[in-house]
Amino acid sequence: MQFAVAQRITCPQVLIQKHLVRLLSVVLPNLKSEDTPCLLSIDLFHVLVGAVLAFPSLYWDDTVDLQPSSVSSSYNHLYLFHLITMAHMLQILLTIDTGLPLAQVQEDSEEARSASSFFAEISQYTSGCIGCSIPGWYLWVSLKNGITPYLRCAALFFHYLLGVTPPEELHTNSAEGEYSALCSYLSLPTNLFLLFQEYWDTVRPLLQRYCGEYPRKRNSLIELPDDYSCLLNQASHFRCPRSSDDERKHPVLCLFCGAILCSQNICCQEVVNGEEVGACIFHALHCGAGVCIFLKIRECRVVLVEGKARGCAYPAPYLDEYGETDPGLKRGNPLHLSRERYRKLHLVWQQHCIIEEIARSQETNQMLFGFNWQLL
Ligand SMILES: [Zn+2]
Ligand SMILES: [Zn+2]
Repeated sequence: MQFAVAQRITCPQVLIQKHLVRLLSVVLPNLKSEDTPCLLSIDLFHVLVGAVLAFPSLYWDDTVDLQPSSVSSSYNHLYLFHLITMAHMLQILLTIDTGLPLAQVQEDSEEARSASSFFAEISQYTSGCIGCSIPGWYLWVSLKNGITPYLRCAALFFHYLLGVTPPEELHTNSAEGEYSALCSYLSLPTNLFLLFQEYWDTVRPLLQRYCGEYPRKRNSLIELPDDYSCLLNQASHFRCPRSSDDERKHPVLCLFCGAILCSQNICCQEVVNGEEVGACIFHALHCGAGVCIFLKIRECRVVLVEGKARGCAYPAPYLDEYGETDPGLKRGNPLHLSRERYRKLHLVWQQHCIIEEIARSQETNQMLFGFNWQLL
């Protein structure tokens, strides 16, 4: 902190102002600043310290070196702290882990009720990305647990900045007493949701902006029909967009976007950097930045591809009544979607395991080296 205080004196004020604008653009998303980081990836205590120390630079301009009066300073500290605390509360609530074994507290406490109604409000702004079925008491306990470390740091920071003696309770070790003592030392209501009520008109548009962008809806593979014959039927109606001959085609379904492509056929090849690539490989470059998951419909086989020359087969998520896959559709039993298998395929993708899966398969299955993936 001594360093930061010294910086404030030695650095050009204009530079500090620029730094401050960048810091504040995290919590004030309408401040235009280049590549503003996502609210969820920011350490807000860091923003608090930076913003509080840099704030006096706003009073400076070319001709006069003004400093805020001590009254203005107190209000500046208070408003910055309240704003950043509300942003941190939102961080905690947007990333809440609903699977923790928390000890249940009073269901209808004032805090639990405030938490519930606030959460219902923000879940509207995320267009349902966060559910509002979490009980109020759980939200409140999670918030309190999540915010206490930040409050502790803030109390230490303001103590060293302003020299206000902390109350006796902060020297004891009781968790319950600590939380309320921190709140009272920092001039916060113990029901922190009251902050939002107090500044509702100002904060509401900010909340909408935070939540409009974050969190993003989780990507998902396309919905597949339960009955495999639906896909076969679709495949039989498939016509290559580029040729009108009656030659049998290899329709392949992109599981990222649902496009059906004409695979392994010269009619739909494209040239990329002077090299011929098949329709699937070409599609993958745009649809999944080179990485993609396809279903070869007539063969009931999934293929994972990466770049221009690597790929592997993967079991299709369709099983017959004996719980077996039918690669190549040789047996011809009716096949139904296995939710469990499809979920596994989702995981391979979401946990970024496609490339790993391809590498492993190429090690164990030398046979596939013979296949020219580039023309898929
Ligand atoms: Zn696609
Ligand atoms: Zn074609």
